[in-house]
Amino acid sequence: MIIPKQRRFIQSALLFTCFSVPTFAIASTPSNAYQDPFINSFASYAAEIKAMETAENASASHAFANYANDVSGVEKKAGYIGDELPIPKATKVMEGVYTVVGSFIWGTTTNFGLNNNLSAIIFDDGVFIYNGGPNEAVAYSFHQQIKRITNKPVKWLAVENDQGHAYLGSSYWHDIGVKNLYSEKRANENFHRIFDETKERYAKGRGPIITQSSYDVTDKFTTFTDSKTIDVGGGETVQLINFGGGHTPSMTGMYIPSRKLLFTGDLGFNERLPGLLHDSHFREWITSFEKMVAMVPEDVTVIPGHGTPTDLATLKRQTYDYFVELYQEVQKVVDTGGSLADVDAIDQSKHQDRPVFGQLSISNARHIYNELMTEKRAQK
Ligand SMILES: [Zn+2]
Repeated sequence: MIIPKQRRFIQSALLFTCFSVPTFAIASTPSNAYQDPFINSFASYAAEIKAMETAENASASHAFANYANDVSGVEKKAGYIGDELPIPKATKVMEGVYTVVGSFIWGTTTNFGLNNNLSAIIFDDGVFIYNGGPNEAVAYSFHQQIKRITNKPVKWLAVENDQGHAYLGSSYWHDIGVKNLYSEKRANENFHRIFDETKERYAKGRGPIITQSSYDVTDKFTTFTDSKTIDVGGGETVQLINFGGGHTPSMTGMYIPSRKLLFTGDLGFNERLPGLLHDSHFREWITSFEKMVAMVPEDVTVIPGHGTPTDLATLKRQTYDYFVELYQEVQKVVDTGGSLADVDAIDQSKHQDRPVFGQLSISNARHIYNELMTEKRAQK
């Protein structure tokens, strides 16, 4: 494809750009979307050559521009081609079930955006993955761990909700040939709609290089609304269940009867404080949690959306009881015509040692207050 003469141009340009990449990269990155400095430098170089174009080097600017295009095309097709990241080691939850417990704080460049849980369940016919990861680099790194545990192929992927750390790594799993991708219908539609802004936000906050190769594969997903049962071989099944909204508008929970194993998605937070985000609803969260508990045996093993694997009683205390108790306190403020200052003063010290307490406790109380006040106004 590249003729020898052009290759010499490119090689000399390479030497040249070795020294000038930083300047070009800074100069030619006006937007906050990630741009590869290597490709950028060729695009800039093509523009420079064009500016001093003579009959002699007329073809040079084209050659560099084409090269920049070719490399960017190859990068897009190849997906993530970098190193295995030092993400936490997968812990064995039970025979054939492994979970990488993500960071208990926000997604950052230090934790590679991995602040939720990624799990692998090994079945007779292959491996089932729960959560795609926050980017292809983390998905790839998790996959390398799985390959050291089993030689069975990854056959299925389900993602817990419409958030970036559930979805953005999905293109990696699609690229390596995973054909069965599952998500609840509304979550899949939501993620398709917010893909670009989510990717941009993740690139900014968790690192552009590990985020850049992610692309939207929502059209490859099989969706469901209430529940879907998947035959995974060996007489076992996986039940995907939308227990309802709460943290996010809808979700994909997962229950494996043969192993008494429940994946709660973001209805379940252990250790770190659960958070009410802009599209969260505390009442829905409470009813969805109740529905979930009613659908599974009491003695299930629980892999929550955030935090370490646990039992149902602990999870209930850490998530459900927290919201119910906080709700009762906020309701008292509303009933007595109290103010936001009274909401802020509610004693949540029982939970003060939980990670992200400082960032979320007051905003959770205010979120509940706002929901209750909206309900109150609607009643009048
Ligand atoms: Zn989450």
